[in-house]
Amino acid sequence: MNWQTSMAKGFNDPEKLLTFLGHDPEKARLDANALFRTRVPQHFVNKMRYGDLHCPLLRQVLPIGQELEEKPEFILDPLQEKRFNHLPGLLHKYQGRVLITLAGSCAVNCRYCFRRHFSYKENQINLAQWQKILDYIKSNLSIEEVIFSGGDPLMVKTERLAHYMECLQDIPHIHTLRFHTRMPIVLPERIDKTFIELMAKISRKVVMVMHANHPQELCDDTLVVFDALRKNNVTLLNQSVLLCGVNDNVETLKSLSKKLFSQGVLPYYLHLPDEVAGTAHFDVSIERAKQIYLDLQAQLPGYLVPKLVKEIPGQKSKTRL
Ligand SMILES: *Cc1c(COP(=O)(O)O)cnc(C)c1O
Ligand code: SF4
Repeated sequence: MNWQTSMAKGFNDPEKLLTFLGHDPEKARLDANALFRTRVPQHFVNKMRYGDLHCPLLRQVLPIGQELEEKPEFILDPLQEKRFNHLPGLLHKYQGRVLITLAGSCAVNCRYCFRRHFSYKENQINLAQWQKILDYIKSNLSIEEVIFSGGDPLMVKTERLAHYMECLQDIPHIHTLRFHTRMPIVLPERIDKTFIELMAKISRKVVMVMHANHPQELCDDTLVVFDALRKNNVTLLNQSVLLCGVNDNVETLKSLSKKLFSQGVLPYYLHLPDEVAGTAHFDVSIERAKQIYLDLQAQLPGYLVPKLVKEIPGQKSKTRL
């Protein structure tokens, strides 16, 4: 079975998901599904705890009634990304790096996603737009790194990715290509032989920033995939979001860092959630976040402590707390 088929077989009906995990969907309030559709691959569901409604993996993907409660400070575009959207599909916000929203969707829909209200329709890349993006990068000698994001950039077929890589490798001032992806965690089949072969061919530094929030997301399959990537010169990092009810305690974060390291991945960022409409129930206050972080620092070697950051519009980088 290829990865597209596995993905198509995932869950998009929250009632079926609950039934599969041994819950009674009658008791749940799932109307938030209409705001942002449920989507989760079977592989990720297999890592959830059967019969546990508080499973930290389930909480990340299950639409719940609390999403419909309006909170004035939780808005549609807290990062004001529109300001940096110089071309469709391109965000140039920080010096030396541009971010390209390659794909309009992901294999999983995370309920806390800061891009859940992002206009992917306006940002889908066609060939003419890709040419404009290339021209922009070519004429900006200060850009050294291109970040593929989305959505999930690995939703794009490997052949298309290969084309993008080839174009970028022709630009002398581009040193690094970076992917921000949750695919290896939620659909490890995506990292197939063709994809690994593509990584092996790239003549630039390649960085892949995974997105795992909880140690339970790492398994034997992720280990195999990470090994294959590392053996083909991909540097592996991980970013997490600090999420109430998922990983907002020292024990979980400590165990996540250790497990990532045991699988060859270094923790990079721990993001405070952005104030996005529909996600208030995931919020962790800055004071609590700092306390958890101090405890984490006291218990881990420095290289296993991710940087605690928040995205504040108008800053020159993500802001360290
Ligand atoms: C997070 C982000 C980056 C990358 O920032 P790093 O600190 O280099 O990881 C680049 N562009 C945008 C728009 C971002 O949101
Ligand atoms: S994988 Fe990332 S971009 Fe996609 S829904 Fe989850 S958090 Fe959002």
